[in-house]
Amino acid sequence: MKIATKDNPALKMVQESLEKAKCCKNYNIFVSLFEKEALEKAKEIDEKIKNGEKVGRLAGVPYALKDNYLTKIGTTTASAHILEPFEAPLDATIVKQLEAEGAILIGKVNLDSFAHGGSTENSYFGPTLNSKDQTRVAGGSSGGSAVVVALDIVQFATGSDTGGSIRQPASFNGVFGLKPTYGATSRYGVVAMASSLDCMGFFTKTADDLNLLMEICAKNDPKDLTSLPDFYDGAASKVKKVGIIKNFDNDSVNLDVRKAVKSATETLKKKGYEIVELEMPVVENYALAVYYVIQPAEVASNLSRYDGIRYGFRSKNSERLDDLFSNTRDEGFMKENKRRIMIGNFVLSSGSYDAYFLKAAKARTMIIKEYEDAFKKCDVIMTPVAPNPAFKLGEKVNDPVAMYLEDIMTVPVNLAGLPGLSVPFSESKEGLPIGIQLIGPRRSDKTLIEFSKELN
Ligand code: GLN
Repeated sequence: MKIATKDNPALKMVQESLEKAKCCKNYNIFVSLFEKEALEKAKEIDEKIKNGEKVGRLAGVPYALKDNYLTKIGTTTASAHILEPFEAPLDATIVKQLEAEGAILIGKVNLDSFAHGGSTENSYFGPTLNSKDQTRVAGGSSGGSAVVVALDIVQFATGSDTGGSIRQPASFNGVFGLKPTYGATSRYGVVAMASSLDCMGFFTKTADDLNLLMEICAKNDPKDLTSLPDFYDGAASKVKKVGIIKNFDNDSVNLDVRKAVKSATETLKKKGYEIVELEMPVVENYALAVYYVIQPAEVASNLSRYDGIRYGFRSKNSERLDDLFSNTRDEGFMKENKRRIMIGNFVLSSGSYDAYFLKAAKARTMIIKEYEDAFKKCDVIMTPVAPNPAFKLGEKVNDPVAMYLEDIMTVPVNLAGLPGLSVPFSESKEGLPIGIQLIGPRRSDKTLIEFSKELN
């Protein structure tokens, strides 16, 4: 991280960042920019440095927040019409942690509405464009966060990952993206998607920056009841054996993606690591279906609070209270939000609960078990992040199943609560970035970050 010093004033860094943000307008990254506030904060930090006062570990570092992180400043939209205009009464825990170390918020960035999606095309504000090819998607749902880092507008950005939303856009834009162990970072003050899967993490250009952000933010938070006791500060453990999932090397996976994993395997072999071939039939064949039952069920429950009374948007011209609820929800939610609410309520309904939700919950336990068994044979698992590099804008957005299939390699990690890291690795023949996914046992976040350096 390049922090502010006497020779590198915060003001200069913030001005440059704002300048770049303006030049990159056509990528549709920012939902809001905080120019005045960011410049003021930079001046305060420079003043402190001038006076020899202590400044934080992120002093003067410009950063961006995914716009589902609540902030007292400005609005929080989750790129959803139904939250417009919502002014949050509090800052998310992560926002407080970052600001306490002197990081400077430049703006809040685009996502798929309520983080539902894998391309940022489901945003109420329109899609963010891929940083390497403007005819392609940024990935999602944290598309804005990946692109804002890839284009060097800020040094890091936050994201949320419920089924791949940090790792996949990181891979599509050639940056690092960490989904921490479930509970490692606080969920407090981030718009909930599916609470048993949601993890808050980061996009950076280097592994060391990720490490610093985890040192700052992977702390127990009494305000988040699923927050883990502090564990991050221990040493990384030694990796000797790397597992690869044999059947992810199949014809439905893009050839360049398969080549990337093979070349990463060769790199590691040459460095003396033992490669272990794994068979993980439940992860390969059932995780996606399990995710698309459990996640919508939790989405349906979390989104039930948006009724036109408590937050943001309210439909006009409803004479009765129940019309107000349904008109607000009908006009305020996007198609993909509604699809998930309907699926979720269906799988939770009394006639279908046993056949869908309960079965999925049991299969989830089998997925957890399959990873536990795998980690008896290896220290980390290496897989592709997604079956394809960034696809074309419009290619999948009207075909939900095709879009969901892109999540097949990321969702099992969330179902098991494990850390997953997307490491920038190679390029497709069209020059599109391809990342490699590293997965470890719970609490192995630091090990993954350290180990990722071996893929250089
Ligand atoms: N693409 C996945 C979905 O649409 C993951 C989303 C996320 O992690 N927020 O559910």
